[in-house]
Amino acid sequence: RIAVTDSLTGLYNRRHFESVVATDLALSLRHGDTNSIMVVDIDHFKKVNDTHGHKTGDNVLVDIATLISRSLRKSDLVCRIGGEEFIVLCRRTRKDESMRIAEKIRSSVENHSFFSVSGTRIPVTVSLGVVSFPDGGIAMTVDEHIQCADLALYHSKTTGRNRGTHYAELGTIREVNQCDA
Ligand code: GH3
Ligand code: MG
Ligand code: MG
Repeated sequence: RIAVTDSLTGLYNRRHFESVVATDLALSLRHGDTNSIMVVDIDHFKKVNDTHGHKTGDNVLVDIATLISRSLRKSDLVCRIGGEEFIVLCRRTRKDESMRIAEKIRSSVENHSFFSVSGTRIPVTVSLGVVSFPDGGIAMTVDEHIQCADLALYHSKTTGRNRGTHYAELGTIREVNQCDA
């Protein structure tokens, strides 16, 4: 269990996520159901550490792990995959429903009261990137799906943070921007 657990938050780690989701992906391709993956990244987290110290940063990470877990169903899987990044597998969840869950996570973080170790209230937000699969039955690896979710996350970051983007919207957004140009 130690090998697949993140000691700070008690969530599973990336290694566990990748091995579990590979099985889900194979099952979905066979049975035709759709799953969604979302990556959740804390906004300007370096600033939280720089301003309030590493211990405060750690407490924020633990709080966010709890907030994400509370927004999910028992059948979902949440892991901490990097310093200040989390990943969620929402089983049997299509695009619209996955975006509702993303919004639930986003707003629960925005509305939560986080405190520094010295007792100051600190505003914290997260950005999210979501992808649903298998999309049209195209076989892709777990890593490729995560890369798609990362691209959607990058869009959320570059368009103001504290928001979620679905990968399927990226093509449309590009077309709209091209029309504008
Ligand atoms: P962005 O909105 O673009 O995501 O900005 P950011 O500052 O969140 O991103 P960046 O990648 O520049 O910095 C991430 C920071 O996360 C840097 C590091 O200090 C902090 N961090 C990573 N892991 C931990 C951890 O385990 N504990 C604490 N306290 N901080 C961590
Ligand atoms: Mg990050
Ligand atoms: Mg960040």
